[in-house]
This record gives sequence, C-alpha cells and structure tokens, in this order.
Amino acid sequence: MGGTGVIEGMAGTADTGVTETGATDSAALAALHRVFGFDAFRGEQAAIVEHVIAGGDAVVLMPTGGGKSLCYQIPALVRPGTGIVVSPLIALMQDQVDALRALGVRAGFMNSTQDFDERRMTEAEFLAGELDLLYLAPERLRLDSTLDLLSRGKISVFAIDEAHCVAQWGHDFRPDYLSLSLLGERWPDVPRIALTATATRATHKEITERLGMPSARHFEASFDRPNIQYRIVPKTEPKKQLLAFLREEHAGDAGIVYCLSRNSVEKTAEFLSRNGVEAVPYHAGLDAGTRAAHQSRFLREEGLVVVATIAFGMGIDKPDVRFVAHLDLPKSVEGYYQETGRAGRDRLPSTAWMTYGLNDVIQQRKLIQSGEGDEAFRRRAQGHLDSMLALCETARCRRGQLLAYFGQEPDPAGCGNCDTCLVPPETWDGTVAAQKMLSTVVRLKRERGQKFGAGQIIDILLGKRTAKVIQFDHDQLSVFGIGEELGEGEWRGVARQLLAQGLLAVEGEYGTLVLTEASGAVLRREQEVPLRKEPERPAAAKGTGTRGERKAKAAAAELPEELLPAFEALRAWRAEQAREQGVPAYVIFHDATLREIATVWPTSVGQLGGISGVGEKKLATYGEGVLAVLAGLSGGAAPEAQDTAPASGEDAWPTDEPEPDDWI
Ligand code: ADP
Ligand code: ZN
Repeated sequence: MGGTGVIEGMAGTADTGVTETGATDSAALAALHRVFGFDAFRGEQAAIVEHVIAGGDAVVLMPTGGGKSLCYQIPALVRPGTGIVVSPLIALMQDQVDALRALGVRAGFMNSTQDFDERRMTEAEFLAGELDLLYLAPERLRLDSTLDLLSRGKISVFAIDEAHCVAQWGHDFRPDYLSLSLLGERWPDVPRIALTATATRATHKEITERLGMPSARHFEASFDRPNIQYRIVPKTEPKKQLLAFLREEHAGDAGIVYCLSRNSVEKTAEFLSRNGVEAVPYHAGLDAGTRAAHQSRFLREEGLVVVATIAFGMGIDKPDVRFVAHLDLPKSVEGYYQETGRAGRDRLPSTAWMTYGLNDVIQQRKLIQSGEGDEAFRRRAQGHLDSMLALCETARCRRGQLLAYFGQEPDPAGCGNCDTCLVPPETWDGTVAAQKMLSTVVRLKRERGQKFGAGQIIDILLGKRTAKVIQFDHDQLSVFGIGEELGEGEWRGVARQLLAQGLLAVEGEYGTLVLTEASGAVLRREQEVPLRKEPERPAAAKGTGTRGERKAKAAAAELPEELLPAFEALRAWRAEQAREQGVPAYVIFHDATLREIATVWPTSVGQLGGISGVGEKKLATYGEGVLAVLAGLSGGAAPEAQDTAPASGEDAWPTDEPEPDDWI
C-alpha cells in the first residue's frame, strides 16, 4: 500500500511543459488581481492553482478561512469551460453565486429551490459556454439527466467541496458523495480538486480512496488559526456564564452558540433574547422556512447570535463571526475544530469558548454505552470522546494539543493565545483525593443493587447528611466526611478528571461510577495522580483578566482612533448598499477592505483599485460611492488633514463609543 503521505503522487504535472508554468502563473495572478483584487496567493494556494490549471488532480486540506475557494475558482476562470462545484449546501448556493456575481464572475447553480424556467436558463448558459462556475449538489449531479447535460458542454474542472462528507465514519457523511468517483471515470481528462477543512490522516485517506483519486497530489496547509483564542471553562451555570462572556467580550458581535439538544437550543435562545442579546434558534426540528429565515438573518445582519445544534454551520462563510461558544461537550475533536473554525475567517481576533463539566462527561459516556452500533463503533466513539476530554483537561497549550491531534507540529513554547497559555493552570498532587474518591466508590459498590451517581459520592465525602445519605445509612460508612478539605466544585473537578484519565468509568443507564482496571494502581499507592486546580470563580475571572476590558469590536481593533470615523462611515455606507441589494454586507466589501480604505484614504479611482479586495467589477460598481464617502468626511482633504481635525465639535463622530452596529 502506498500510504497517504502529505505529498504523494505527482500525476498531472508531467504532461505540462516547464515553459508553460510561467504563463499559467501569470494568468492565475492576473485573474486573482482583476477579479478578486488580491495581490498575491496565500500559502499553498499558488501551488494548488498551478497544479490544477495544468490538469492535475488535487486533494486539499486547509482550515476554514484558509482560502479554499480560490483554489478552484481561479482554475475555473483560467481554464476553458465551466468549473463544476459539487457542494452539499443547497441553502447557501444562492448566496455563493450572488457573491461571485458581485465580483463579475459568471456563476450559476442548479437545485430544487429553482423553478423550471430558472433551471432551463442556467442549462442554456452552461451549454453556450457562458458560465465560469456552476454549483450542484451531489444528488443532482448523479442524475442521468444532469450527467447528460454536463457531457454536452465543456468542463474546466470539478471541485468537490466539503469532501469529508464522503467519509463514512465522519460526522457529516452524505451517501450521495459516494457516487462522485464516477466523475473520474466519465471525464478522465478533467482535473478534480477535493477540498475539506476537517480531516485526520485517516479521513484524508478515506477521501482519496472513495473519490477514486489515487494519483491526486496532496496539499496540506497549516491547521493553525492564530486569530482564534481557545478557552474552556468549568461549567457552573452555563447560560449565565455565556451571558457574562457575551456582555464582557462580545457585545453586539455575531456568533454561534452550540448546544447538544434542540430543547436547550430553544431555551438558550430565549434566555439570551430575554437578556438583551438578539438570538435565534436553529435545529433540524424547525421547519425549513424558519431555518432558512434564521440562517439568512445571520448572514445579513451584523450582530445576530444563532443558538444551534450541529445541524447549523457547514459552509457558512460569513467572515465576521466573532465567537463560537459551546455549552456542551462536542463528541470529537474533529467536530469541535470544525465548529470553532467558523469564527474569524476574516483573520481578526475571535474567541472559541466552551463550558464543560462533570455531567458532560457522564452523559457522553452513558450515551456511548447505551447507544446503537457494534463494539467497534462504540470503541471508535469512545476514542473520539477521550481525545476531546484530553483537550479539555490539558494543562498545556490547547492549540498545541489541537495541532498535534491533526498530526501537525505545534510550537513547543505555547501559542500565547489560549487560556492555558494566558493563565497557566496550577496542578496539584491529587493522589490522596483520588484515593478517597475511589475508596468511596468501592464502598458503595458493595451495596448490591443500588445505583449511586457522582452526587451521592461527593455528598458522602463532604459529610453531608442529605435525605438520601441518611436513607441508605451512608453516614455510617468509614469514608463519610473524609473529604471536607475540598469544596463541592473541587470534588466535581476530581471526579471529572478521574473520568477523563480513565481512572473511573460510567456504567448503566443511571451513570453509576465504577472503578476501572487502572484504578487499582492508585488505590495501592503505586501511581500518582496530578490534577488541574479548579479556578475559584472561573469564567468571569478569566474573561476580565485577559480581554474583558477591551471593547470587543474586532472589526475596529487596532485601527488608530482618528481613522474610526472613516471606518464607521464606510460601514454605514456599506450597510445601505447591502440593504438595497438584499445581500450580506460582506458581499459588498469585507471589513478588512474597509479598514484598508480608511487607512490609505484613496482620493482617486486608480488608488482605490490598488486596495486588497477591490477588483475590477467592484471598482466599477462602488468606486465613486466610496470616494464620495471619504470626500464627505474630510471635505476632500487627505488623511493628514484628518489628524489635525478637532476631535470635538458638531461634526466629530463619537469616537469614544465605537458602536458600529448603531449605524447599520
Ligand atoms: P475557506 O473556504 O477555506 O474557509 P475562503 O475561500 O472563504 O476560505 O477564504 C477565506 C477568506 O480569505 C475570504 O474572505 C477570502 O476572500 C480571503 N482570501 C482568500 N485568499 C486570499 C488571498 N490570496 N488574498 C487575500 N485574501 C484572500
Ligand atoms: Zn496556547
């Protein structure tokens, strides 16, 4: 077996003459500049684009926000014919196509939301060679009628987006993806590029095999998302903790809150709304119309919070999602990374925040034990959960742990932008505490037929004479009250960490705690048990200590104060354009582009065209409008004049309260 290395087969490059490379390069760069208004490719993009333009197949692993779209859009623009994009995200196709059209790209889609005439028109455009890109869902692609249509036109490239959906054991499996291997058989001369943001080595290999791309070249970008701050806090009162987090750090920001159940999604959305945070629910139990409406609001409004199950989020390419919060423990690190990756695609500071507690561990362990599936399935689920728990309980850099999980090299010095780097957790020798807890578990086990959860064990350790303790004479046990040196929260932390370390296990439908094979060594004093200290008042304390004072407006972050008025005016202008056209604001210009405009302060169309994110079409559409906004602010003066302009007076913008959303 060949094995799946990072870079393997180089098929597809051999047939291209060396001399052609330069020409391809410059055609690609020209398209990048003209259409997207960008100066240079990022990281692996250049190599990928060159390879695909030359006719090679590629499997691309790049984190969310890494810039995957350009990897197929540029080849589709440079090669003759239409690029076919296979995507599972029907609900987002219209938005994707709108965004491309705003750039002057001839894009279309075919899916069940269209009526007959619309579809006919798209088909005609495709056959006439008038489309650069055509988006299709896999279930439509495999229809004979679609395959027939495609064979009558010219295809430049097949892009298989969200390629991890082909992985049968993955978290987003879509059976229709399995049929995509036929593309290579039917169109052996058309290059294919499969892209995903989520893949361990095993998934990576599965993608390659199932899509039938044995000779594809593999590209793996760094998975690091340095602008995302990872934080995991002990769960006490999750909804209140969430509210405090939002108020202190993300007031007015757009974000996603993930909950495990539909019920808690509804309740959390309600709770936030009642407390002044605009929030809407999203889960598979809501009707399609409501879901579409909530998703559309999230994309179009600037400060909306969506509270959702994992049903929400794939393909959401809103660049300014400022936080992703988890109120419950995700089932795997892949899932967690995929979900948190939806924050900060614009590379501005963002937060991935999670509350996590003893009950999460017990719940998940119980679910796996009592769930469906054979032993192998259960073991796999258990393995996924164990990795997730290890991430939660680590005293080391969270980012380092994440990168290592995906087989990448972390910085041994830590990242400086996760909770454990910012406030290194103290560890303590928990051996005696562990022995006390395990001994209590042993004592209770002797009471055959009775099932006691973690709560009873902790009550006994603390010497609490609760009704249930008295009922079962547990105050008579020799272990009663032997744990008074720790508080209840600390004992819950001990239980959680013993579960995470495999020194305790969960059994049966009541979630009874039982010993494991490894527990013996601790009870016999043969093994030490280092534990993480539970912070006294975890959530709030940490938030305030690190970033709480900063006003959480990443969009305006690091912009010199005197440029804020221009930035805000540009945002207000953009909001108006977006409203008129019914598109999300970021389709007009990204925040990053507006920041650069405010900084450079162009005074001519030519100067404006030099700014990153301003391509030909946007320059033609919005150039005059942007220049008028700037001229209106400064009375036609350049930024130097701005510097000396008085900060007070009637015309001054209230720079001390940068609340951009008020302008929208
Ligand atoms: P992904 O699909 O990998 O999540 P996108 O393709 O949506 O990422 O790109 C993420 C963001 O980065 C987008 O806003 C995109 O415009 C921007 N971007 C991508 N490539 C470049 C580049 N070469 N130069 C400047 N911006 C880029
Ligand atoms: Zn770190």
